[in-house]
Amino acid sequence: MIEAFLDLLRIPTISTRDAAARDDAAFDAFHEALRRHFPRLHTLPVVRVSSHGLLFHWAGTSSDRPMVLMAHIDVVPVEGGWRHPPFGAVVEDGVVWGRGTLDCKGSLTAICQAVEDLLAAGHTPQQDVWLSFGCNEEVAGDAAPLAVEELRRRGVTPWLVLDEGGAVAYDAFPGVDKPIAVIGVTEKGVTSLELRVDGRGGHASTPAPLGPTARLARAVTRLDRAPMRASAPDATMELFRRAAPHARPAMRYALNTAVRSRALLTRLLIAAGPETAAMVRTTVAVTTLSGSPALNVVAATATAGVNIRILVGDTMEGVIRHVSRVIKDPQVRITVIDEGEPSPSSPLDEAFDLIAAVTAEHFPEAVTSPYVMMAATDARHFTKISERVYRFTPFEMTRKQRESIHASDEHITVDAYLKGVAWYRILVERL
Ligand SMILES: [Zn+2]
Repeated sequence: MIEAFLDLLRIPTISTRDAAARDDAAFDAFHEALRRHFPRLHTLPVVRVSSHGLLFHWAGTSSDRPMVLMAHIDVVPVEGGWRHPPFGAVVEDGVVWGRGTLDCKGSLTAICQAVEDLLAAGHTPQQDVWLSFGCNEEVAGDAAPLAVEELRRRGVTPWLVLDEGGAVAYDAFPGVDKPIAVIGVTEKGVTSLELRVDGRGGHASTPAPLGPTARLARAVTRLDRAPMRASAPDATMELFRRAAPHARPAMRYALNTAVRSRALLTRLLIAAGPETAAMVRTTVAVTTLSGSPALNVVAATATAGVNIRILVGDTMEGVIRHVSRVIKDPQVRITVIDEGEPSPSSPLDEAFDLIAAVTAEHFPEAVTSPYVMMAATDARHFTKISERVYRFTPFEMTRKQRESIHASDEHITVDAYLKGVAWYRILVERL
């Protein structure tokens, strides 16, 4: 049952920023292995999007409320020391080790296995099911936008889109022992700016006051001292509201009080540290800096890169206005390098309830809740054609496992993988 998963893990489908460095043969081999392991799935009509993206169409009894299940074929490069070879797919004591076990070949294979099993049982879904597997998610590539275009061309308006994202997370909250199944209903937008100050330069022995580096430094500290206004979005309020009753007695009172007021919860999350503060505000981080290339030369130009994660409720325009108002210096030029608005919040209606109900039934010990996803996924592109886009991977994950995503020693238990397969099967059956 897990042979297909292990085989697919062994194929190094690594995404690289430099397209020429990409190993296309690995992606071809992945398609080949997918065909070999899932012959029934491959009787369904499929189109290729971008170089190796796949879009399968499983016709249901009705096409009124189509569902899209998403995952991606590519993985991030390997770094750090690994206990087992990252593309070895070693199974030890019920644990599968390898790059992509969680992000995202686990869910990709689980989706394929669920569909394969249902096809073998002669199942026809109540509604159309589309499977959209991207091939360059990790480099913000074109496969997902092209899949969206393809669906739009065919007049498909998905009722529900489900991509990777939250998980059945163990030790997610300090003070809450139960696992929390978090379903992403929105994700932060990623925008980058460049700040640039030009000046005269010259010899370092005769510097003028407030040259480019000093002016830039002043702008950077002004930005650092004036974070954006914070306010816990609805999804964050709901997450803490649902988690509070399960907190240990020492924390329960504080949490139960805080969730009654948005202002109070916002303050509490800011005070608890940068991780929780990021849940309630747009964050602004100055990441890169450059000045003069030589110690004895005054910089003629100084630049800083600013990475901004925009929370639902804020907009790029508003954030740029904030940045320029705070810097308050027309000699600091602000240029947009990457644009990305936050994704609109998907509603907590029937589609969310379907995902939540299957999850609650399948993981009875877990608290199920919406939340705001901090990382970017391919799902954001689908908000152009669907109101109901959710981000959830039906796997139980410990904190250690979540931290292994994009790092070393990524792993999943065989049991969690098999439960994930069953979860997708039930989801399709319940459509
Ligand atoms: Zn991923």
